[in-house]
Amino acid sequence: MRTRYAPSPTGHLHLGHVVNAIYVWGLARAAGGRVLLRMEDHDRVRCRREFESSILEDLDWLGFVPDDGLHPILRQSERDDVYRNALEQLRRTHHVYACACSRKQISGERYEGICRERGLADAPGRGLRVRIDEGVETFDDLLLGAIEQDPAHQCGDLLLRDRNGNWTYQFAVTVDDMLQGITDIIRGEDLASSTGRQLRLRQMLGGTGRPRFAHHRLILKPGGAKLSKAAADTGVRELRQSGMTPEDIIGTAAVAVGLTDEFMPVPAHRVPAFFRDSPPAARIHRASSQ
Ligand SMILES: [Zn+2]
Repeated sequence: MRTRYAPSPTGHLHLGHVVNAIYVWGLARAAGGRVLLRMEDHDRVRCRREFESSILEDLDWLGFVPDDGLHPILRQSERDDVYRNALEQLRRTHHVYACACSRKQISGERYEGICRERGLADAPGRGLRVRIDEGVETFDDLLLGAIEQDPAHQCGDLLLRDRNGNWTYQFAVTVDDMLQGITDIIRGEDLASSTGRQLRLRQMLGGTGRPRFAHHRLILKPGGAKLSKAAADTGVRELRQSGMTPEDIIGTAAVAVGLTDEFMPVPAHRVPAFFRDSPPAARIHRASSQ
């Protein structure tokens, strides 16, 4: 088993990241697997190196240590050649085309294929998409159970590179998970809807084998809104400054997603116990977004 912890350095670490770390390290360690670290800094506008340093420092302080070290750190921003190669491979067998639509022109999540047959040249200021055919993707999520998704209806033709020249999350993460040999993808349930399209893209890229998925609960603010990275009351930096220990912070994250019934301090090396003592299946819950 090989899984990955893959933060985007668009802000400091917060309790939502800590929840993800509990699941990633916990499930990996309980199964004797390895955790690789990947910086998902494909968005060159929003990502900053100072956030990367801060995330790494907080993770280390909390006690979550990746298995393949940090030298070098795998950064999406430094893998342009890798994504370019994958794009060329995709072009050989699938319809990849330039798209001139702005975000405003695309209402909702689904792209209607406006530029599919326009034959536009690949030029600065244009995105690149790949045609997605109809068909259902199914996967058996460790935490959410069986899920069916039809990417052509959900999102339409997938954006691979945006108008600013950034590789998209969907493309970069699919390529990286394949090339890094990731067997288990463990992430928040807000990304469950991306899974069918990533499985499809993987097949289109000639990927063999299928990763397993676990989409875990997110910490919600009172009222049900997803936690924002800006929220000062949940930032690991702020919590550290207030005197909380690593065990306090991990324990706070654990109770916030129901891994414990009441708060108790939890050191990082104890997180596998959440998944050893009671199998994840016992914690199955249905995401409202499904
Ligand atoms: Zn378009």
